[in-house]
Amino acid sequence: MRMKKNWNETFEQAVKVLSIIEQNGYETYFVGGCVRDSLLNRPIKDIDIATAALPEELMDIFDSVIPVGIEHGTVLVRFNQVSYEVTTFRHEGIYTDQRRPDDVTFIRHIEDDLQRRDFTINALAMDRHGEIKDLFSGREDLDKQLIRSVGTAAERFMEDPLRMLRGVRFTSQLGFRIEKETYNELYRLRAEIETIAIERITDELTKLFQGEFVQEAIEYMKQLKLYAHIPLWKEHPGLIHKLPENLSAFYSIAEVITLFHYLDETITIPTWVREWKCSNKTKKASLQLFDAIEYFSKKEIDKWLVYTLPVENQLSFNHLTCLLFNKEVKSDIEKIYNNLAITNRAQLKINGHELQALFPELPKGRWLRNYLEKIEYEVVMDQLINTKSDIKEWILCHPPEID
Ligand code: ATP
Ligand code: MG
Repeated sequence: MRMKKNWNETFEQAVKVLSIIEQNGYETYFVGGCVRDSLLNRPIKDIDIATAALPEELMDIFDSVIPVGIEHGTVLVRFNQVSYEVTTFRHEGIYTDQRRPDDVTFIRHIEDDLQRRDFTINALAMDRHGEIKDLFSGREDLDKQLIRSVGTAAERFMEDPLRMLRGVRFTSQLGFRIEKETYNELYRLRAEIETIAIERITDELTKLFQGEFVQEAIEYMKQLKLYAHIPLWKEHPGLIHKLPENLSAFYSIAEVITLFHYLDETITIPTWVREWKCSNKTKKASLQLFDAIEYFSKKEIDKWLVYTLPVENQLSFNHLTCLLFNKEVKSDIEKIYNNLAITNRAQLKINGHELQALFPELPKGRWLRNYLEKIEYEVVMDQLINTKSDIKEWILCHPPEID
């Protein structure tokens, strides 16, 4: 009989995967964030499954299995067009390079697997009937809203210091407090963070800044002095204290970098991106956001600003204007955007080739780009109508300047 008491429709499809593995004789559970979030009635992001079956055994059971991290027992099972991360129950050794466990031992029982998990609220397992396995009083901690290490905090943090940052990240996502012993050990062992690969740190910081309770999490970062062990915050210890005190959820790490660059312009955006090992996409978005913020601080919102701000950065931009200038601009941006004469350069009724052809005596060069941008500006600002004839007429009165 299915209990359905901790059920959530996201599990409906996934439970079939559990049943299939179990029919083949292997104990299987939902684990980690999905169990925690369903008990909290929070939206579930991804479903993690833990099983006694070995990766090879899963490959025999399902047609489509992608070995994404087979050496630590993780495969992706495709079932009814959905992917599920399925990990074999395991113990793990020390993470010497602070990236992944050195040695992983596959085991046949969930109990030992739950023991290796970071926090009690993440060490809950749920079977296909919705029954919860809770060896470390994780449900009590969910009720008390506490982040508590599984077992001895000191040992768990020494095994993988990333857990310290994960702890603070969960305070940001859930609004929970850190339990006292966990807190004390976090403070004592904070310097161990320096041994973690920066990519893992950046991933956690990204999630931390995206949390609803980011303000509280930043308070933890300050109180616990964790910031003193994170690249760039370490070299500029005053920086984190310059953050506004009304922080709310960020949309992206690009926005975080833009804010820090705004708070201290001596640290460039490329420096942040390099030190925190972010992507080129993040770099581009940060540079664009920063330009928009600078423009806004001098001229407020106008059509040109909205035109040059990529649509996907609009929410980040609004968040930054709220934080820095206490100005909500979302609806202004939408209104202006919907009434723009053009939304990209390709819509301009004249292009570079045509312009060049109008001035055959002029050499190709910078003037052309500047001139095209000037026309684009006039059109965007509604000072020139976007038709070929209007643009040509405008050109007659405003010949290009050559320097
Ligand atoms: P979310 O997916 O919402 O970010 P999550 O709790 O699912 O949160 P994941 O990183 O997806 O976090 O990990 C899934 C589970 O694996 C965790 O709930 C936890 O039980 C375990 N886990 C992940 N990383 C660690 C770690 N560094 N140390 C111990 N256990 C971990
Ligand atoms: Mg997860």
